[in-house]
Amino acid sequence: MPETVLQRAGTTPPLVALSEDEVLFRDNIRQFAEEKIRPQVREMDEKGVFDRDLIRQFFELGLMGIEVPEQYGGGGGTFFEAILAVEEFSRVDPSAGVVVDVQNTLVNNAILRWATEEQKRKYLPQLASEKVGAYALSEAGSGSDAFALQTKAELRGSDYVLNGRKLWITNGKEAGLFVLFATVDASAGYKGITAFIVEKEFSGFTVGKKEDKLGIRASSTCELILEDCKVPKSNVLGEVGKGYKIAIETLNEGRIGIGAQMCGLAQGACEYAIKYAQERKQFGKPISDFQGIQFQLAQMATEIQAAQLMVYNCARMKDAGMNFVKEAAMTKLFCSQIAERVSSLAVEIYGGYGFTRDYPVEKYFRDAKIGKIYEGTSNMQLQTIAKLVLGGK
Ligand SMILES: Cc1cc2nc3c(=O)[nH]c(=O)nc-3n(C[C@H](O)[C@H](O)[C@H](O)COP(=O)(O)OP(=O)(O)OC[C@H]3O[C@@H](n4cnc5c(N)ncnc54)[C@H](O)[C@@H]3O)c2cc1C
Repeated sequence: MPETVLQRAGTTPPLVALSEDEVLFRDNIRQFAEEKIRPQVREMDEKGVFDRDLIRQFFELGLMGIEVPEQYGGGGGTFFEAILAVEEFSRVDPSAGVVVDVQNTLVNNAILRWATEEQKRKYLPQLASEKVGAYALSEAGSGSDAFALQTKAELRGSDYVLNGRKLWITNGKEAGLFVLFATVDASAGYKGITAFIVEKEFSGFTVGKKEDKLGIRASSTCELILEDCKVPKSNVLGEVGKGYKIAIETLNEGRIGIGAQMCGLAQGACEYAIKYAQERKQFGKPISDFQGIQFQLAQMATEIQAAQLMVYNCARMKDAGMNFVKEAAMTKLFCSQIAERVSSLAVEIYGGYGFTRDYPVEKYFRDAKIGKIYEGTSNMQLQTIAKLVLGGK
């Protein structure tokens, strides 16, 4: 077992080696995902609705505030543990993976890093115990070019008054708290962008249309409408005009989470393919007896291992305080590629059955597509990697 390697004194543990606490943490999550999430996956996907009671249980298990320090009611865990949770959930349902991912790697992280002590005392206990968070950067006209956003924030007395629309906001339907980006001065370009902590109950804030999607259908993706939405000045997150820094740095961490989501997804699809290949008989024997199928499975397993090593390495780099910008972009890029390839092969290994909704693999294939789109498209990851590689970093 790789775990035992950690106990050997004096050796540097391999990347796949988990501490005893991490093994326990992962096994508990895996058991929960198998027992509570797996039975609901198909119905949640078909209805396009995430079961609220499951979210309640995520809170009870401490999975919505993994890194939040205990003094604020959280688990006091590591980023690596948050990544393990996203990977394990995504193995069963990538929609469940992204609910936990956005909460931990984007919203909680942004507040942990940039909030004032007063803001932390107010919001972190809520996020760790009952309030789903969402991260609202994108707009209809600004996706890859995120800092071309148009939502305006105007200071009037002790409030900022926000006007505009946000699009594609994950967890939008369930969320009670939003880390939301607006500009205080559109003529200042990215230097006008400011992050705000917005409560769902603030006047002038409404959640608009929920998207009907190809994949991760149970995860809500919504428009947010701000019409003279009053946000107290005290709810500016970080400094006015420094929202671009918060957005960039939070998304760097988030990309490791999406890598974990895609890696877990690929594992889930591959497990189904291995099982099916051993059961399905053609030409008088299980199709797993054919070398053509064996080689496909071997390729899938190899790519998954490479992806997992990238995810784990990156998460450990983050916990060690190292610079991981290039590695995070590479991880998201690669994991989303292998998720698409592995889930596509899983559909093929199931043959005609794989193409129907009666079998689980087509959902993994649909869910995989988003990995190349959100938190920066593959082209945006390539742009970041190229810049750093060409700059000698
Ligand atoms: C399901 C889902 C959930 C999401 N969740 C969130 C969320 O929680 N919060 C949030 O803020 N946003 C969220 N998003 C938005 C997401 O981050 C954007 O969709 C993404 O950044 C791409 O932006 P876009 O859709 O405007 O595409 P565009 O930016 O218009 O890109 C279109 C195409 O052009 C390419 N392209 C653009 N610019 C360049 C360039 N300079 N060089 C080369 N190619 C380029 C892109 O790679 C892409 O292929 C979500 C989106 C979806 C679909």
